[in-house]
Amino acid sequence: MPVKNRFAELQAEITEWRRDIHENPEILFETHRTSALVAQKLQEFGCDEVVTGIGRTGVVGVIRGKSDSKGKVIGLRADMDALPIHEQTGLGYASKTPNAMHACGHDGHTAMLLGAAKYLSETRNFDGTVVVIFQPAEEGGGGGREMCEDGMMDRWNIQEVYGMHNWPGVPVGRFAIRPGAFFAATDQFDITFEGRGGHAAKPHETVDTTVMTAQAVLALQTIASRNADPVDQVVVSVTSFETSSKAFNVIPQRVQIKGTVRTMSKAMRDLAEKRIHEICSGIATTFGGTADIRYIRGYPVMVNSEEQTEFAAKVARDVSGSCDEAALVMGGEDFAYMLEERPGAYILVGNGDTAMVHHPEYNFNDEAIPAGCSWWAGIVEQRMPAA
Ligand SMILES: [Zn+2]
Ligand SMILES: [Zn+2]
Repeated sequence: MPVKNRFAELQAEITEWRRDIHENPEILFETHRTSALVAQKLQEFGCDEVVTGIGRTGVVGVIRGKSDSKGKVIGLRADMDALPIHEQTGLGYASKTPNAMHACGHDGHTAMLLGAAKYLSETRNFDGTVVVIFQPAEEGGGGGREMCEDGMMDRWNIQEVYGMHNWPGVPVGRFAIRPGAFFAATDQFDITFEGRGGHAAKPHETVDTTVMTAQAVLALQTIASRNADPVDQVVVSVTSFETSSKAFNVIPQRVQIKGTVRTMSKAMRDLAEKRIHEICSGIATTFGGTADIRYIRGYPVMVNSEEQTEFAAKVARDVSGSCDEAALVMGGEDFAYMLEERPGAYILVGNGDTAMVHHPEYNFNDEAIPAGCSWWAGIVEQRMPAA
């Protein structure tokens, strides 16, 4: 089963949807137009159920197969939101909204899953139920988490979930995947060191927060180099260092640092959080000050289930002849929450030789549509073969 002929036929139509969404990007949970468009299309296709307002602006469509002898239900998920980036592609269908752009290809993801929904509604050549999931706020808002919190998995009895992301650098029509941890947990820290400010010419009368914080910034580097097992992945980056005084002759009362932590396992995540607390409070005490430490957990590690990953790779090989082993990605992915609730797999589909996602010159590659849609259809038809 290579690319399905039906998707070669539908490619022009799906491309039109994609470009329309591209022209009208919406950020985080503000996907009102996109959600309405998705819901309207799903209705037109004849989905058995279309529900809006799951996870605020999320949309769910239900498609029942020709038969349902085993009660099997599979969830297929796409993201709909854009990024606060000013588009610089010069395309005829470039964003009409300043500082909003589909720079991560979620326009393509939405269009491809709509294409698959159209095909599956037409053919229904499977034994079970498909739930198509369109989520808002992948780019930092946790829209996937909110859909889960709204009880989506139980409400439709979803047993497995699958996700897909386009990937620049992977040839068009090809796929890449890996089992286990795939995308990183993305956490943030915000720490304020407090000492005693004073005259810069009288340091002995102060508790110098600048020196204290500088020690902490250096010591934080030892989490990756001295605490973590060298074969495991952890990134601790201090990205902001701000003193409460901007004068040449004042020792500041306070220094605030901010940064990000990326990890690939729960154990490493817990270790990084614990060490940040120990290092910063320990150094503050040593220098006679205090540290107010806020560690903010973001998306968890996204972990692909073994069995579903093997199956997803098989379907990808059927479509494209091969499936590559993907490298670890230190970025985060909101689909992690759905994979925490249900077994499943997340695959990369080639976007060819384009700018990287989140770049103002990036664009989703419409030539990827037949392969992406065929993979979605293959997941359903092979996981729930018609009786
Ligand atoms: Zn992104
Ligand atoms: Zn993305």
